[in-house]
Amino acid sequence: MADLARILETALGGTAIAAAGALAYAVRVPACSWLAPSVHRGPGSRRSIALTFDDGPSESTPALLEILARHRTPATFFQIGANVRRLPQVAREVASAGHEIGNHTDTHPLLALKSSGFIHNELADAQETIEHATGRRPRHFRAPYGVRWFGLGQAQQRLSLNGVMWSTIALDWKRQTPGVVSRLIGGAAPGAILCLHDGRVLNHHPDIGITLQAVRELLPKLMDLGFHFERVTDILCPTKN
Ligand SMILES: [Zn+2]
Repeated sequence: MADLARILETALGGTAIAAAGALAYAVRVPACSWLAPSVHRGPGSRRSIALTFDDGPSESTPALLEILARHRTPATFFQIGANVRRLPQVAREVASAGHEIGNHTDTHPLLALKSSGFIHNELADAQETIEHATGRRPRHFRAPYGVRWFGLGQAQQRLSLNGVMWSTIALDWKRQTPGVVSRLIGGAAPGAILCLHDGRVLNHHPDIGITLQAVRELLPKLMDLGFHFERVTDILCPTKN
């Protein structure tokens, strides 16, 4: 993804380096809503945090559900349509455990440089698949790799999806457990939205051992700090008790 600015420079004609830099900012920076409306944190009126997990469902998701159940912790899962079709029963387990399900596209493409029609179909196909498998129609959307593009805002609007980025991303696909835990503790604040992963894009049987161990360590630490956990819909509401 470090090559995104270079890709955009090429797309914009090579001479528009400053424009490419500004566009790269709009495409990647979680707090920027220029290309598509999105939130990256709740209002912070309560001492609550939203845990979010991307790229599932996977064969490894049930182990995460066990840990969350042990701590009675609700979370939000941004699922990929293709993974839901592969593992509909796991998607249903997530929903029936009381977690929220969000849309993370149908096949997890990089949305940069894609047509508006392609982007809309990616979101719409995932909506249909998730609703068919779980009976829940997602209200929130998270872009793969956090990359937004032209046309995404309109697709979100047509499908009544709210864009959700994050206040802290765990880097749990490339860091060891202590680094993931300390990064997330550092990002703990009222209204924080933390991003982890219960899958690895479309991989079967992904190894998410680091994520699982990080969540085991993180939950009691955050509770000791006086935090409780809310689903994304709840954390975005300023008045919920
Ligand atoms: Zn993803």
